[in-house]
Amino acid sequence: MSSKTLDHFLQENLQDLKERGLYNEIDPVQGANGPVITINGKELINLSSNNYLGLATDERLKEVAIEAVKEYGVGAGAVRTINGTLDLHLKLEEQIAKFKGTEAAIAYQSGFNCNVAAIPGVMDKHDAILSDELNHASIIDGCRLSRAKIIRFNHSDMDDLRKKAKEAVESGQYNKIMVITDGVFSMDGDIAKLPEIVEIAEEFDLITYVDDAHGSGVTGKGAGTVKHFGLQDQVDFQIGTLSKAIGVIGGYVAGKRDLIDWLKVRSRPFLFSTAVTPADAAASTKAIELLMESTELHDKLWENGRYLKDGLKKLGFDIGQSETPITPCIIGEEKTTQEFSKRLYEEGVYAKSIVFPTVPRGTGRVRNMPTAAHTKDMLDQALHSYEKVGKELGVI
Ligand code: PMP
Repeated sequence: MSSKTLDHFLQENLQDLKERGLYNEIDPVQGANGPVITINGKELINLSSNNYLGLATDERLKEVAIEAVKEYGVGAGAVRTINGTLDLHLKLEEQIAKFKGTEAAIAYQSGFNCNVAAIPGVMDKHDAILSDELNHASIIDGCRLSRAKIIRFNHSDMDDLRKKAKEAVESGQYNKIMVITDGVFSMDGDIAKLPEIVEIAEEFDLITYVDDAHGSGVTGKGAGTVKHFGLQDQVDFQIGTLSKAIGVIGGYVAGKRDLIDWLKVRSRPFLFSTAVTPADAAASTKAIELLMESTELHDKLWENGRYLKDGLKKLGFDIGQSETPITPCIIGEEKTTQEFSKRLYEEGVYAKSIVFPTVPRGTGRVRNMPTAAHTKDMLDQALHSYEKVGKELGVI
C-alpha cells in the first residue's frame, strides 16, 4: 500500500501543473534522433535536439562504437578508481585536453554529473560562488551541494558581477571565491561575456568556471567559447558535455594538471559511479578527432542557423538576442506558446515550447535548434509552417 500523504501530494500538484499549462508531455522518438524524426508514427522536421553537428547518427562514430563493443564489451565493469578505468577513457581524456588546449582533462558520466562533481570538488562552506542567474540547473545543484555561499548576479551584467565580487572580497568572510557562467546560454543562444568576466576575476582573484555545454563544437570554430575569445590560459575550469555537439554521452572538465589530479581523488561521481561505456568513450574520442580535423560540420551548422534566423525574422518573429545557431522564437504567454508548438507539430515540425519555470514567466518561447544535418528544404518546410501557425495564432 502506498502512502496516502504521497498520493495526495502527487495528485494535487500534477493537477495544478496541468491546469496552468505547465505540464510537459514526453513523446518517445521511434528510431534515430536525426534531422527528421518519427513520433507516434508521424514524420517531423526535428528542431529540438542538441545534436548540433548531426554526429549522434554519424556512420564513422557508429563504426568505432561497434568495434569498441566487440573488443571491450558493453560496460566498464567498475568505478574508475577500482579497475573501471579503461585505456579508452584515458585516450578520451587526452583527446579532450588537446581539443581544449589544456594540460589535462577528466571525464564524467554526463555534463550534469560533471557540475555536481567539480563544484563541490573544490568549493566548501567557507567559500562563495558568484553565479549568473541564468546558469543551468546542474550548476545550481553543484553550487548547493558544495555548501558555499551562492551569490547570484544579474544575467551577463558585468557591473553587477564586479559589485558583488568586490563586496564578497571586502567582507573577508570567504577562503575562495569562484565565478561560474554558462559559455552559451541555451534558452536564448547568447554568449557569456568572458573577456570581462576574466578581467574581473583577475582583479579580485576569482576562480573561473565556464560550462560550455552548448558552445563546444559550436563556437570558437568548434573548440568552444573559451577558445572563441582566446582565453585558454585564463579560465580555470572548462566544462563540457559529450552529449550535444559531440553526439554521444558524458561530460568533462579540462584544466591544469593539478586541478584534474585533485578532481580524480576528490570528486564524488568520479569516485563512486561507473564511467561511460567503452562504446561511448570510443565514439566521443572519434567525434573530437573529426572536429579537430575539419570545420566542415561546424560551418554547415552556422550556415543553417543563419538561414533559419533570417527566415523567421523576415516573417516578423521576435528571435531575441541569439549569437549562435540556437534560435528562440519568443511567443510570450505560456498557453499560447504551448499551443504554437502543438500546431507546429500538427504541421510536421517538432519544436518544443519552453515556458516557466525553465524561463521567466511571460517569456515562453518555441526554441529551434537547427543542426548541420538539416537540408535547406527541411528548413524551408519549417519556415512555411511557422508562417502558417504564426498568422493563425496572431503572433505575426
Ligand atoms: N550544463 C549545461 C549548461 C547544459 O545545458 C546541460 C544540458 N542541458 C548540461 C550541463 C547537462 O549535460 P548532460 O545532458 O550531458 O548531462
